[in-house]
Amino acid sequence: MTEPPVTTGAALDEAAVQKFKASLRGELVRPGDDSYDVARKVYNAMIDKRPAMIVRCAGAAEVISAVNFARIQNLLVAVRGGGHSVAGKAVCDGGMLIDLSTMKGMRVDPASRTARAQAGLRLGEFDRETQAFGLATTLGTVSNTGIAGLTLGGGIGWLNGKHGLACDNLLSVDVVTADGRFLTASASENEDLFWGVRGGSGNLGIVTSFEYQLHAVGPVLGGMVLYELSKAKEVFRFFDEFSHTCPDELSTLGLCVTAPDGNRVIAIAACYCGSLEEGERVLKPLRTFGSPLADMIQPMKYVEMQSILDAGLPPGQWHYWKSNFVRSLSGDAIETLMQHVATVPSPLTALFLQQMHGAASRVRPTETAFVHRREQYDFIIPSIWIDPADSEKNIKWTRELWEAMQPFVEQTVYVNSLGDEGDERVRAAYGVNYKRLAELKIKYDPTNFFRLNQNIRPSA
Ligand SMILES: Cc1cc2nc3c(=O)[nH]c(=O)nc-3n(C[C@H](O)[C@H](O)[C@H](O)COP(=O)(O)OP(=O)(O)OC[C@H]3O[C@@H](n4cnc5c(N)ncnc54)[C@H](O)[C@@H]3O)c2cc1C
Repeated sequence: MTEPPVTTGAALDEAAVQKFKASLRGELVRPGDDSYDVARKVYNAMIDKRPAMIVRCAGAAEVISAVNFARIQNLLVAVRGGGHSVAGKAVCDGGMLIDLSTMKGMRVDPASRTARAQAGLRLGEFDRETQAFGLATTLGTVSNTGIAGLTLGGGIGWLNGKHGLACDNLLSVDVVTADGRFLTASASENEDLFWGVRGGSGNLGIVTSFEYQLHAVGPVLGGMVLYELSKAKEVFRFFDEFSHTCPDELSTLGLCVTAPDGNRVIAIAACYCGSLEEGERVLKPLRTFGSPLADMIQPMKYVEMQSILDAGLPPGQWHYWKSNFVRSLSGDAIETLMQHVATVPSPLTALFLQQMHGAASRVRPTETAFVHRREQYDFIIPSIWIDPADSEKNIKWTRELWEAMQPFVEQTVYVNSLGDEGDERVRAAYGVNYKRLAELKIKYDPTNFFRLNQNIRPSA
């Protein structure tokens, strides 16, 4: 089916807009309004888009009316949870931005160890509520990321080895579809939709709330061990061996970052979510390896663990990311990384190797829409800078490193780490599940109304 043309807003029916505005409990923000420039901002400063209207929804009822209004007026639609998509999919030029970031309701049921959470919550807000009961579920690793986009794309966090991905912990979701219907999807209701939202990103509809399974978590044994950059080869080799043998309770992240003293370092971050005594034993090989510059691993509250990377990744900087999954790190791969690190243009730029393993890797690839079920790392080159004049050299460096790494990586990519990189890379993100997702797209969104995402085109 061909997609209908969308208007971006120039030809809006003003009387209809005023009537729609008057019907809202939330806010309708338009160009010229005082809050417009703040309301259209997303995490990545490189994304500078100007919607014709921003609907700051007060609840699911307003998501339904926004979808209906946009469909009738033929408006291009963007949907924002936490606004962290580095590709900038959560905002549009012209058209309507359906902004869920004001929807922050949440209820934890400690007896059933479940939580119902609205789509505007950020990780830190969610974790604070669940930790009041000593509970948590897998989310990501930076506390101001949105739970919505993260969970819909998969969600790789410190608990993935023990408790699977964020999407594996979903029990049900409430979804507003392109035709304005409100559906609940779970293992026993609209099962095909439930399959598709667990990894299919925002393609099938707007999720207004998520119900998660929680687990007893914390305190954890976690933090980072730092090493001199000159030791990169030995440290990354050790990291790879150590991560491949670690138990489900331990998840790791290898990094190359600039330390607060201005020196670039290699770091191994880790979080052990079992007993602290056992964690001391499991983490000993890491803590006694080589001659670290610093060992910052210690018992800590889970919410503290969830923010150890926050300082290096604040909103409002310029970002360009390239990524792939990688299964292990050969000596040649490490050498290639380090050759490029020697010429990195920005001290803010990092390298991440986020471990996915254990429970997250043992789910069958076709059991949920998230297909990449293996022990592996999400290898990300997050280039970050602050002066827009530096964009060209930073983007060029990122692309060169990514090209040079191609012989060493899988030809698969995590949908939540993907930039605006074309159809072939989108297919690499959904793998063999693309076909079933495209069929679901015909059923739930035949006109590709929700197209500002890592887009699956409706096709038979
Ligand atoms: C600093 C940083 C750290 C990160 N760390 C991790 C990590 O540790 N683990 C990990 O797995 N990922 C991580 N990510 C990637 C992250 O999962 C994605 O950026 C994700 O899209 C963030 O969700 P969001 O709601 O903030 O995004 P948004 O930009 O709001 O949305 C992303 C996409 O999802 C769609 N969407 C958002 N909300 C909804 C909804 N309710 N219904 C339907 N569609 C919706 C949007 O339209 C858009 O296409 C990180 C990203 C950043 C920038």
